[in-house]
Amino acid sequence: MTNKYIYFIANWKMYGDLKSVNSLNKVINFTKKYKKKKFKLIYCPPYTLLESFYKKIKRTKIELGGQNCHFEPSSGPYTGSISPTMLKKTGAKHVILGHSENRNEGETEQQINKKINSSVKCGLKVILCIGETLVQKKKKKTKQILLRQIIKGLYKIKNLNNITIAYEPVWSIGTGVVPSNHELEKNIKTIRNILKKNIKFKRPKVLYGGSVNIKNIRNLARIKDIDGFLIGGASQNAKKFIDIVKKTII
Ligand code: PEP
Repeated sequence: MTNKYIYFIANWKMYGDLKSVNSLNKVINFTKKYKKKKFKLIYCPPYTLLESFYKKIKRTKIELGGQNCHFEPSSGPYTGSISPTMLKKTGAKHVILGHSENRNEGETEQQINKKINSSVKCGLKVILCIGETLVQKKKKKTKQILLRQIIKGLYKIKNLNNITIAYEPVWSIGTGVVPSNHELEKNIKTIRNILKKNIKFKRPKVLYGGSVNIKNIRNLARIKDIDGFLIGGASQNAKKFIDIVKKTII
């Protein structure tokens, strides 16, 4: 780990109800207690909870993000969707895009690129998820996949400083399996090289996501050149989430 701010992004996926907002109390107290430490917490609850979460965290150091959005910047005839402008109005500052669970449901590289473009233009910071599937890994195509997802996703995106990359090997999400430190270091380095050489993005933030939990975090936190973690399952439990942060930064 570096001496920079370490990011912890809580992706709640399609979980949580109004009662879960109270679980933030513990996390808020934790951030107050450790306010001198260099870390940032970003909660990405389902759309239905964004406003309630915002009310709770607006005077704290915790920030809010959406889990996806439409590529239309403001409004339009898109049933079931929410635009970057709508997200911003809830108090969200961030949006997760290109998550493998959405790619898996048919989200294309072109749509992801359009979503990134509108989100950045609307003033949101984007967390772009990339990563190979198990089949791609076995066929030794990881580098090729990362290159394609980065180049297509960030095609013609200006203001790259509003983009954070989350490396999330698909085979690691929700499976309890994490890459070895060697493999993770190698892939993070590949991502940084691609960003630098192919799109002139010199100082990107690169996070890791996939089955991060209280048992593996100490080991993951040793990995060089990671700016933080995107955490799904374990982030829905305040105590586990706090423990993960503590084990990384204290
Ligand atoms: C995720 O959904 O991005 C994720 C990393 O999930 P989990 O931590 O549950 O593997």
